Formats: sequence, C-alpha cells, structure tokens
Amino acid sequence: MSDLPNCPACGSEYTYQDQAMFVCPECAHEWQEGETNAAADEDVIRDSNGNVLQDGDTITVIKDLKVKGSSAVVKVGTKVKNIRLVGGDHDIDCKIDGIGAMKLKSEFVKKA
Ligand SMILES: [Zn+2]
Repeated sequence: MSDLPNCPACGSEYTYQDQAMFVCPECAHEWQEGETNAAADEDVIRDSNGNVLQDGDTITVIKDLKVKGSSAVVKVGTKVKNIRLVGGDHDIDCKIDGIGAMKLKSEFVKKA
C-alpha cells in the first residue's frame, strides 16, 4: 500500500485521500492530516520530564534501579549512551558500563 496513515478510528489500512481529508472506507471515518499527528504522538517515548527520546540519545538514570536477576544496581545519575527505543513496558534498550545490556523504563530516565 501507499504511505497513507491507518484509520485512527478502526485501524484500517485501506484509507484513501480526498483532497485535504483522509477517508476510511471501512468505518466511514473522515479526518484531516493534522489529526493523525496526535495519534502518532502516542507512539512517542518521553523521558520523566516529557522530552521526546530518540534512538542514539544519551540519558541519565534518575532513580536507583535494580538489575533483574542480579544484585547489581544502576545508580541514580548513571549516564547511558546510545539508547535504542523499543516497544513495551521497558521501552529503552541500552548497554550500561559494568552491567551490560538491559532495558529501562523511560519514566526513570531523563535526556542528558
Ligand atoms: Zn476506519
């Protein structure tokens, strides 16, 4: 298909464009391009301050975090370089010096 956005109401990918409007043939929902940005915004991962995070960013941990399956702790203030955003509950994939690969929650970090 083309790169038209999916229908924000029903998720259908069979949307088409009618001048400034997008139209969904499945549920008859019509919307304007600007509105899709709001929907896409939900996929954005933000840090504890509400700043948008991106792949490759450097972040700082704002809370001591226990490392699952070990006694190690990621200390508050730890800088983590080159993060990778992933979906799910722990939405940041990264590698921390002295600890290794782990996943963090974006709510416990801030952009450095
Ligand atoms: Zn629809």
